[in-house]
Amino acid sequence: MTVTDETTRATADPIEELRDWLKDNWDPDLTCGQWWERLGLAGWSQPIMPIGRYGRGLSRGDAIRVQRAILEYGALGAPNGLGLMLAAPTIATHGTEEQIERFVRDIVTGRLAWCQLFSEPGAGSDLAGLNTKAIKDGDVWIINGQKVWTSGGQIADMGMLIARTNPAAPKHQGITWFAFDMHQPGVEVRPLKEMTGHAMFNEVFMTDAVVNDDARIGDVNDGWSVANTTLLFERSGMGAGGDRVMGASPGTIAGNLDKRAGDFVRARPAKPKAAKPVAGGPRPSPAASYIELARTFGKDTDPVVRQRLAQSHILSELARLNTERHKVVRAQGGDIPGLANFSKLLMADILRHNRDMSGDILGARAMLHSYDDMDTSLVEAPGGRGAVSITGAILSAQALPIYGGTDQIQKNIVGERALGLPKEPGDLSRLPFNELPKNG
Ligand SMILES: Cc1cc2nc3c(=O)[nH]c(=O)nc-3n(C[C@H](O)[C@H](O)[C@H](O)COP(=O)(O)OP(=O)(O)OC[C@H]3O[C@@H](n4cnc5c(N)ncnc54)[C@H](O)[C@@H]3O)c2cc1C
Repeated sequence: MTVTDETTRATADPIEELRDWLKDNWDPDLTCGQWWERLGLAGWSQPIMPIGRYGRGLSRGDAIRVQRAILEYGALGAPNGLGLMLAAPTIATHGTEEQIERFVRDIVTGRLAWCQLFSEPGAGSDLAGLNTKAIKDGDVWIINGQKVWTSGGQIADMGMLIARTNPAAPKHQGITWFAFDMHQPGVEVRPLKEMTGHAMFNEVFMTDAVVNDDARIGDVNDGWSVANTTLLFERSGMGAGGDRVMGASPGTIAGNLDKRAGDFVRARPAKPKAAKPVAGGPRPSPAASYIELARTFGKDTDPVVRQRLAQSHILSELARLNTERHKVVRAQGGDIPGLANFSKLLMADILRHNRDMSGDILGARAMLHSYDDMDTSLVEAPGGRGAVSITGAILSAQALPIYGGTDQIQKNIVGERALGLPKEPGDLSRLPFNELPKNG
């Protein structure tokens, strides 16, 4: 059974069902751990996963509506992070029943947090060129190597590790995917500071670390296809904007499990106020918060700003329509090759456009950035809380066009796999990994 993007559930609108469920289940006095247990076991944490595998078999678009509806209701969203976004659907696709029970349950209920141990100093775009080794010793694998740009590594209980298990095979064919325990002596996590002021990602060093063979997801040396499932969920999630919906950090290290769930709902800094939808009227524009920002800064009558606001609306509508189009095609048993890639490219364009536009609207205020989400010192500055969250978005807009595969790599993939263009010259993918030229 595989994870599906098609709606296999024969209910009416899932949002109605969710609202009824929230009425019966949301209680701000629950701890985050108790709340996520309810949310996850009911299939609402990651509803794109199949029914019976901690999901509800919903489409990507409906799953994002679910996330938004939870927040609009005033409840705490599903646990943040890569466990829910990537590890759970990957394991639900390639894992055994025992592995799904062992790993996915703890992800959807927020018990354990995960990070993605893919990129290395010499293997980012060329991910299959990775050097981290896994050598089998009885029932365990011994891991040695270094990963980098590991988002959330400092609060991760588990890692999605890809490592080289056969250096004599061509580079894509000697890789294996493991569910890797981060709580062990051979693992060192070193934070890296970003220009946003946060240290969201890390270097991870593994020295004689171990992973049991029963935590191997998929076959030995077949990790590239498992990793591609992970990357597909990463690209399609980002392209649909699903990575931007926030709850709170899960896992044993973040320390939120025993905290009151209702406090997280109140504590989140407000976004710029957008116009309320009128019952029966048109949907609010996806650019509504920027329109409000332009009003606040007296720029809503500037013809150039108005044009850029319209462009922002159009780009976001295109992204939404792409998701809808894909949903319809998938429901008819078809597919749109390359859609996840060009959805991510479009999302990168939207972020860059909104970054430049909102920076110009804010003017000099854009140079005042709060380096701590909960820092309230800039709330008194022009634009209030709205501007505080916009400067954060401006500084982090560079991230999405890089992670999950850069814009250039997405274009290469669309060119080769969707448009049938010839591969790049000098393709070395058939040579055994240990015969590849190094630093060439
Ligand atoms: C915010 C953020 C979070 C991240 N989180 C994680 C994480 O949690 N786990 C993880 O494993 N990784 C993570 N990454 C790493 C990310 O996946 C890599 O940065 C990305 O794959 C690019 O690799 P690189 O940085 O090594 O750049 P390189 O591969 O060195 O690329 C440098 C430049 O060369 C271009 N280029 C490279 N090859 C080609 C080609 N064949 N054709 C055309 N252009 C090319 C690229 O587009 C880029 O502009 C994260 C990155 C960011 C920015």
